[in-house]
Amino acid sequence: MARQVTDKYWDPKVETMSADEIAALQFERLKKQLVYNYNNSLLYKSKFEQAGMKPEDVRSWEDFRRIPITGKDEQKRTQEESTAELGHPFGPGTITCVPQDKIVRLNSTSGTTGTPTLYALTQNDVNIMNELHARRLWMVGIRPGHRVLQGLSLSMFTGGLPLSQGIMHSGACAVPVGADGGTKRVLDFIEITRPHALFTTPSFAQYVLEQCKKLIGKEASELGLQWVFPVGEPGAGNIEVRKILAKGFGGAHICDQTGGGHSFQGAECLEPPEVYSGMHFTSADHCILELLDPKTRKNIDMVDGAVGEMAMTFLEWEGTPFQRYAYGDLLQISTTPCNCGRTGIRFKIVGRADDMLIVKGVNVFPEAIKKEILKFVPRVTGFFKILLDKPGPSVTPPLKIRIEYGQGIEGKDIAALEEEMNKAFKETVRINPKFIWVAPESIPRETKKTKLIEITEAA
Ligand SMILES: [Zn+2]
Repeated sequence: MARQVTDKYWDPKVETMSADEIAALQFERLKKQLVYNYNNSLLYKSKFEQAGMKPEDVRSWEDFRRIPITGKDEQKRTQEESTAELGHPFGPGTITCVPQDKIVRLNSTSGTTGTPTLYALTQNDVNIMNELHARRLWMVGIRPGHRVLQGLSLSMFTGGLPLSQGIMHSGACAVPVGADGGTKRVLDFIEITRPHALFTTPSFAQYVLEQCKKLIGKEASELGLQWVFPVGEPGAGNIEVRKILAKGFGGAHICDQTGGGHSFQGAECLEPPEVYSGMHFTSADHCILELLDPKTRKNIDMVDGAVGEMAMTFLEWEGTPFQRYAYGDLLQISTTPCNCGRTGIRFKIVGRADDMLIVKGVNVFPEAIKKEILKFVPRVTGFFKILLDKPGPSVTPPLKIRIEYGQGIEGKDIAALEEEMNKAFKETVRINPKFIWVAPESIPRETKKTKLIEITEAA
């Protein structure tokens, strides 16, 4: 039967499967995928050899967990070796499992540290990804007739062309403006095309709130947006950020989603800004999610409230299938049922294992610092940088934070504010930072991923 706009689910069968049903479906697909990975990637073959196994030996989830983890560093290294040896980065030593004439799209990481990591997709992978994007967008209420403007970087990233294709596949209208051309251009196209929904990073969204009046003569609350999807970096799960964005965008739904994610996808059910229950894991039929202890890399049980480093295994994937692939994102799992009827787990992104700082034995995530700082808006602008003399995680106290005071705040106010903030930080984050105050708008705004940490290595 054809899909109706009133349908609640994009794919009712998968979205309401019981935990046992989904696990059985995953395991069936997993067995085929492991054989495929073994036969088409020397790196994956070596993983089985390290464990003294063949894919046929994987008869239980326990067997599966004996396969060694794959990391981004290995993907990058094999990609570079392939280029040196063969003149292209898709050789059999990498995790790319198909010949070059099967690859129809390349995505990449931002490559802020060295060469970007490449992801090769076949038409099969693109088709799956389109379905997964549409499923997620449908879930939050996007339907044909809605225009969805992309205010994310368009080039090479999963929030660019892949998202455009996913929006189109859902039947909605993609407006692929991109943030690369600057804030004014995004705002001009909002004025011209009147989108219903906006994809952007949380920090770019906050910047739009700040600049809208100045750039186009009206407030962001007057743009008529019904949804704002802040993706690409943590923020939409932060209650303070949600409240600021919901108010600033005139009551738009603030809805957390994964930006691209290949076959790892999630979206938050519509909730008021004061509530955040995490994102539904919407792609369990194409991705196995595991939680690992970041130090020992042993599995952590996926029980309600569990926190660990995520590892992904893609299913029915051809190009660069991830196999027990971990790259440092820490998730918290929730198994509490949701009123919407979707089964399966929900998750929150807690931070990145490699962003964690240790100050006098206390584990501190930049996101926790942001959360605390945002409670003081508008006396602070909300923009700040954590300054480290050398890369973490160990920090010699005090932790230095360069922070903008709010418009109209002056000397005496700053002293009082600092005192209040110190008290709050001591109570909630359990550290005593040293604040370095700077004027509003003196910290550069970034349209791509905003780095909360700046390393000021002494020469
Ligand atoms: Zn739900």
